[in-house]
Formats: sequence, C-alpha cells, structure tokens
Amino acid sequence: MAKVTFEDVLKIYDDNSGGTLAVKDLNLDVKDGEFLVVVGPSGSGKSTTLRMLAGLESITDGEIRIGEEVVNESPPRKRDIALVFQSNALYPHKTVRGNMGYGLRLRTSLSDEEINERVEEAAEMMGIEELLDKKPASLSGGQQQRVATGRAIVREPAVFLFDEPLSDLDANLRKHMRTELARIHSELEITSLYVTHDQEEAMTLADRIAIMNHGELQQVGRPTDVYHNPANVFVADFIGSPNINLFDVEYDRHSSGATLRSESFTYELSEGLTQSITAEDGDALTLGVRPENIEVDPDGEIESTVEVVETVGSDNFLYVRVAGQEGRVRTASTLIPNEGETLRLSFDEDDIYLFDSETEERVLDRSERYEERRELLH
Ligand code: ADP
Repeated sequence: MAKVTFEDVLKIYDDNSGGTLAVKDLNLDVKDGEFLVVVGPSGSGKSTTLRMLAGLESITDGEIRIGEEVVNESPPRKRDIALVFQSNALYPHKTVRGNMGYGLRLRTSLSDEEINERVEEAAEMMGIEELLDKKPASLSGGQQQRVATGRAIVREPAVFLFDEPLSDLDANLRKHMRTELARIHSELEITSLYVTHDQEEAMTLADRIAIMNHGELQQVGRPTDVYHNPANVFVADFIGSPNINLFDVEYDRHSSGATLRSESFTYELSEGLTQSITAEDGDALTLGVRPENIEVDPDGEIESTVEVVETVGSDNFLYVRVAGQEGRVRTASTLIPNEGETLRLSFDEDDIYLFDSETEERVLDRSERYEERRELLH
C-alpha cells in the first residue's frame, strides 16, 4: 500500500501543432488506501494523468511519487501498479486461470501452488470461480471485465489504476460492477486511482473526487463536498443530474440584505446570508439552484413555462423556460403539468449557490451549511 503524490505536474505533448497542453500544474494526493476518482469531460487530461502515473507517458515537469519514491523515470513494470482498462486484452488461448496467473508467473518466483492459491482467492472475490477453466471467447463482456479486474487483484499491487473500465458494459451491468468494485476496494483497501467521464460513476465510487477541465484540477473533495459546495460554475454544472439551474443575476446590496435581480425575477436574500457573500454591490453573479431544491409554488418568485416533462418513474423532471434561460425542476411523479403551461417556482435561500459571473468562482462558501445538516441527521 502506498500514497500517490502529483507535485506541480505538467504535461505538454509534442505534436505537429506546436505542443498540446494536456495537464497543467497538477497538485494532487491519493491517500494510502483511498479510492480517488478523476472525472471530467473528454479531453480534460484524465487519461494523461493516469498514464503518467502508470509510466506510459513521460512528464514534462514536476514530480510523481508512489510512497516516498519519485517515479518520474521508472519504467512501468518497476512501479508496483496494476492497470485495468475498458478493453482489457485477455490472452485468447489461455484459460481464465492462465490469464489471471500469467503476470505472477512472469514477474515473481512464486511456486505454481502459491500462484494458484492467489488466483483462486481473487476469483472467489470476483465471483468467477466457475469460469477458471474457460477461455475468454466464451465469456460475456461483464465476465471478461471481472477476469481483468481479478488479474489485477492477483498481483497485489501498491496502487490500482482504472481507466474507464466499465464504459463498454451495458447500463445495468455497469451499475452492478460499480457496486462490486466498491466492495472489493473496501475489502482490499488498495490505493486506487479511477478515471471516468461519468459523474454518477464518480459520485458512487469515490472516497474523494478530483474534477478536471482543460487540463486543470477544479476541485478535490468527498462526493458530498463537491455536490454541496462546488468551487466554481464548472463543478456545479458538471456534478449532478439533471444539471443545476444557473441564472444570470445582478447583486444589489442594501441595508437589510440583498436583492438578486434577473431579467425575469427578483429574489430577496436575508442580511444573515448576505454577510457570508464575498461580492460587491452591482456585481454580476451566477445563481445556482439544484433541480431538487426548486418547488412548484403558486406564490413563487419565478414565472416559468413548461417545455418538456420527463417521467422517470420515481420523479418527474420538468424542463422549463425562465425568461430567456433554461430551467430544470425535479418534482414528485404525481405532478404532471402540460407542456406550455405557466408554473410559478420558488426555492429557499439555504439552497442557493452563488458565483462571480466573470471569474466563475464561488462567492458563497456552503461547507458549514452542509456540515450542519449532516449533524441534524445524526
Ligand atoms: P481525457 O482522458 O480527459 O479525455 P486526455 O488526457 O486523453 O483527456 O487528453 C488531454 C489533452 O491532450 C487533449 O487535448 C488531447 O487531445 C491531448 N492528447 C492526448 N494524447 C495525446 C497525444 N498522444 N498526442 C497529442 N495530444 C494528445
């Protein structure tokens, strides 16, 4: 087991276009035994981050450490890591047992008996004991993924690296494997770095999430931290489904609080809340409200027009228009308005997020509010 450290890591790919900046000044720790998920849109630098740690990609500047050891120059096989990716090439002519034991046979001096023991242990953990004598071609996609994960477990590495390992699987299987991976991690407690573009996958698997955009780390925190206290507009918008509502407003500070003015509504903030906001009178702000925090309310401040009603069984998602802007509301499944209908909406000031429209950074820290609510639950 080992912690992993990225210190001021920079990656510029040499290519014909004069170099592509893929990862910029990355400072990130994966704690010993932690499951850290790196998430972000396509091209944000996730795979490059993982590949640099694996030793498959050189680094332009900075330092990567596994434990206390600087591994910048170490070849992949010297790094004590195991990599699981989406299309894990299993050897087609070897049985599952052969595939799982191959790495150990190649790199260690363990006896056949010891290798077999470790393979069987890992197979049991992955629930694939019955498949040990089969060949990969006769396995389903999900079973192949289990074998690939089992093969990594057998190696007992210091660090597990996962590169979108579930993206080839169908939705149900993906959810199932997600739970499996979480269970296995809690059994083995091996330091893991997992890359995905799927925010839901990230939220369900991670001890902590690192969110990247354009090669830059945006925020690192527990899933609840990034959801309830997003550092900037990008994180607020990226995490959560349906996406958070974002409205352009002007901040109008006055003696008993502040008013948020948009084209189509005004919203009063209490003096208490206003004291925590680091914005100046007249600033352009972005108001964020999550779909589950908006209520259909005849006395609501906001007038909206329903455009689409999406029924997902447990809830309904209303896609609405608020003046020129789009809005999303999660309601009970029993509330089914007509398309084109006018609905008034309201929300509580405790549930709002505020960002500076220019820098897109938060101007209202929500960490305390979340902790207070957590305490109420316990
Ligand atoms: P992600 O995994 O988040 O999709 P990547 O790490 O693959 O992102 O890519 C980050 C950036 O680096 C992108 O702009 C991508 O086009 C560029 N990139 C990735 N690999 C190479 C390469 N081998 N040569 C040149 N540019 C690359």
